Amino acid sequence: MRFENLPVGAFQANAWLLWDEESGKAVLVDPGDEPVRLVSWIRAKGVQVEALLATHGHLDHVSAAREVGEALGGIPFLMHGADRFLLETLGETRKQFGLSPKEPPQLDRELAGEETLPVGSGALRVLHVPGHSPGSVAFLDESEGSLLTGDLLFKGSVGRTDLPGGDAPTLFDSIREKVLTLPGSTRILPGHGPATTIDEEKGHNPFLLGILEA
Ligand SMILES: [Zn+2]
Ligand SMILES: [Zn+2]
Repeated sequence: MRFENLPVGAFQANAWLLWDEESGKAVLVDPGDEPVRLVSWIRAKGVQVEALLATHGHLDHVSAAREVGEALGGIPFLMHGADRFLLETLGETRKQFGLSPKEPPQLDRELAGEETLPVGSGALRVLHVPGHSPGSVAFLDESEGSLLTGDLLFKGSVGRTDLPGGDAPTLFDSIREKVLTLPGSTRILPGHGPATTIDEEKGHNPFLLGILEA
């Protein structure tokens, strides 16, 4: 499966396009802003996006979902149900950040964790990783060892836990139980900033020191 990212919007959140090269079937993860730019990027790849996924419901990861979904012909939007409350306040939250209003996407299918989502002949496993938000999920491509972590884990940092529904002990439990149990060579493809690996973060991420010693 191919993975490419495009940072979008005021928060430079990574939108990730994943596709199976043989069939051209694709999913788009975290359509966070700049719908016109996202759609032309996707069209230039010549892939067929079959679903929009979100790692969580924050505005920098979902704000373009409605417009991208409509432009690509009404494809479904999937996210964990525990972040539905964040969609309901999307317009208000954007206003607080001084951003233009946006209609939230319709949540067509709620994820719960542990589902497997097909992408052509490949597949993504959904891991529920609450802490940054209650409905945060990560998407794992087990065949290649790639993990889309959203705002759970970044190169050298972790997601903030001071937003509504966030909880620091829960975030560190998610990292310990769902991420650090994967092979060390697993690529971490985060919601902001550059890619890394589990081994690199075990060695260098100061936020993980406490849980690695425990
Ligand atoms: Zn977030
Ligand atoms: Zn974010």
